[in-house]
Amino acid sequence: MQLILVLNAGSSSVKFALINIQNGGQEHDLARGAFDGIGQTSRWSANRLDGLANKDITVKNGLASNHKEAVSHILSWIEINYGLASLTAAGHRVVHGGGNFIQPIRLDKQNVEALRKLVPLAPLHQPHNLAAIDSLNELAPTLPQIACFDTAFHATIPDVARHFALPRTITELGVKRYGFHGLSYSYIANELARYDAQLARGRVLVAHLGNGASLCAMRDGKSIATTMGFSALDGLMMGTRTGSIDPAVIFYLMRDQKMTAAEVEAMMYQKSGLLGVSGISNDMRKLREATGTHNSAREAIDMFTYRIIREAGAMIAIMGGIDALIFTAGIGENDTELRADVIKGLSYAGFSLDEVANNSKISKISSENGAVALVMPTNEEVMIARETAALISNEQK
Ligand code: ADP
Repeated sequence: MQLILVLNAGSSSVKFALINIQNGGQEHDLARGAFDGIGQTSRWSANRLDGLANKDITVKNGLASNHKEAVSHILSWIEINYGLASLTAAGHRVVHGGGNFIQPIRLDKQNVEALRKLVPLAPLHQPHNLAAIDSLNELAPTLPQIACFDTAFHATIPDVARHFALPRTITELGVKRYGFHGLSYSYIANELARYDAQLARGRVLVAHLGNGASLCAMRDGKSIATTMGFSALDGLMMGTRTGSIDPAVIFYLMRDQKMTAAEVEAMMYQKSGLLGVSGISNDMRKLREATGTHNSAREAIDMFTYRIIREAGAMIAIMGGIDALIFTAGIGENDTELRADVIKGLSYAGFSLDEVANNSKISKISSENGAVALVMPTNEEVMIARETAALISNEQK
């Protein structure tokens, strides 16, 4: 049995999961929780999912001013509920593995330094991942730490899809498509193989539609193309991110509107997408509620849907057709209207909607004949726990 602590650190939160992996490979989600609002009004929540009483911790002033305090609270909660000594290892979600890290790695000193060198490739995400790694190293120095990468699943993308039409010297600097959401795609590829092994070997398009959103085209369970690129800004329209945009807009904003690079970057990452277009919210549920009263909410949703259909068309073209489309993440798993509109938009590719299934909790939402459309919940934490446990087992062999 291996007890894995999964940590997912963002700019203002550290989410955790405690997952037990038994020798036969069965997984049990023992606990989930998060420290949100680091440096602001923090919220702490932790839930035991194993049915036993939750012994909660007292959180001083309800505040964590940095990632280290948040990690420290998480460790205290684990100590009183399970005992820290029972942990086998910690697995971190790390956004960027660059061109070299295409498998999970042990976070020894040398590897941590190598990840630090990748900060310029993901300046808004990687430093927070590293903050959690550094904190855990200080607070629990003997606990093995493993990094699991969001980029790794896309290592199989061929150069024709990976490279930009830039001078070779720039490509050689590492300016190319890396792709993200890889832990989610990897989990879905495994789930699909369990659901229907033959289908999983075919032409599969996975739509990860959460606050961040991307598509991944797979063949034989491997990534062959994805909409996110050098950064997590490319591709689909997202909650607060633009997705693909004519780069000349950036030159114009900087040269003529006198915005700085940092201002344009913040606008494109944090103030655009559903939030920017609607002027209301980045949250799809709120936008659905607002469509009756605000045209801008409808416009934002229409653009979001249009871009999925447009990018899916490109993916279907490069796969030479499609056998299965899978919806996952917050919007993909829950928004029945979005799924219905996307499937209607892809009817030319052989999809037709089973409306009853789409409105219930059934995973197959396409009608009997034609291409298969499925809803599958993703579970990045379980994927991290599996990868972490496997690396530790291999080291012990
Ligand atoms: P993250 O990328 O932060 O992990 P999630 O995968 O949790 O995000 O997805 C968040 C998005 O899912 C939000 O836009 C939220 O409104 C949307 N969502 C969650 N539940 C529903 C629902 N029932 N209907 C429509 N959208 C939903």
